[in-house]
Amino acid sequence: MTLRFNQPFVTGKELAYVCEAIETGRLAGDGPFTKRCAEWLEAHAGCRRALLTHSCTGALEMAAILAGVGPGDEVIMPSYTFVSTANAFVLRGAVPVFVDIRPDTLNMDETAVAAAVTERTRAIVPVHYAGVGCDMEPILEVAEQHRLTVIEDAAQGVMATWRERPLGTIGHLGCLSFHETKNIISGEGGALLVNHPELAERAEIIWEKGTNRRQFFRGQVDKYTWVDVGSSFLPSELVAAFLLAQLEEAEDITRRRMAVWDAYHQAFAGLEANGLLRRPIIPAHTRHNAHMYYLLLPDGATRDRVLADLNADGVRAVFHYVPLHDSPAGKQFGRVAGPLPHTENLAARLLRLPLWVGLSDHQVVHIRDRVERVLTG
Ligand SMILES: *Cc1c(COP(=O)(O)O)cnc(C)c1O
Repeated sequence: MTLRFNQPFVTGKELAYVCEAIETGRLAGDGPFTKRCAEWLEAHAGCRRALLTHSCTGALEMAAILAGVGPGDEVIMPSYTFVSTANAFVLRGAVPVFVDIRPDTLNMDETAVAAAVTERTRAIVPVHYAGVGCDMEPILEVAEQHRLTVIEDAAQGVMATWRERPLGTIGHLGCLSFHETKNIISGEGGALLVNHPELAERAEIIWEKGTNRRQFFRGQVDKYTWVDVGSSFLPSELVAAFLLAQLEEAEDITRRRMAVWDAYHQAFAGLEANGLLRRPIIPAHTRHNAHMYYLLLPDGATRDRVLADLNADGVRAVFHYVPLHDSPAGKQFGRVAGPLPHTENLAARLLRLPLWVGLSDHQVVHIRDRVERVLTG
């Protein structure tokens, strides 16, 4: 059997919307489809302003500018994350300060954040790993105490909540991804959610390449001119048209992914009960979005054996991430706030399984049986 790791799901309406964009002749950014996507996000996420971007990486870069992060400033984040979390701040000359993760959710250990704060700290970047919300309360408290900006890397968190609040809408700023490997997709794509009202106006200016173009079109200023730093962060209308079709089906997509996640969770319950592996843990006050199904094997060597066996069978299971503090660029640009034992231990033991809409119960059981054979054979 050959089972892809990811199989992008299309709703069927994407092509009609893309054709509509072509027919109306509006192809650049910030047109009718971009507005409809932003309205959808503002209505469903309840953020002050949603700005579509070409990627979550772009949204993080906008957030770094908005947070006023500059050379030598420090930004607290987990080491166990995708490179963009750190790169966005390194591009401003800032230093990522890596803290450890919690062994249950693999989210940044919120109790380690306070000790990582120095006089140079400007921002905290919690990453909602696997679409499972970080415990935001202590993070928000530390931020308030030291006047730090909280930027949620909610790349994996669309349609998930923490204490009923959508991920990406809890900190000052939130960043979503619509990359083809995420739940809701547009090939490449993302959004910056601006939750703090005072940041909304500047966010639009940075988004519009440092101009007041949006204010001009709203009639708030009589000249359209260069007023601040900025860059090209907008997706084209073709991308926004594709995305709108996905957003309109977001609940259905999430429900269907959840069915696959639940099937995995049930299938692996017995192996966990026998102490052969650990399944994901979802804390009580979070609603996840079935972004990812992973297993934690007893040690790195066992993980590698299971991975090799699945791949030999055509099942494209994968692992990630090389912890950033242990990467060449992470060593060059960042520093650690104390030892990171959970990060190192868990990264070596984690295995991600294929998860996409349409993966059958039969395929899930097949994967479980392969894993079981390696672990008990
Ligand atoms: C996918 C991902 C990103 C980057 O998203 P892009 O849209 O590909 O730029 C950033 N952070 C995390 C945690 C991610 O999973």
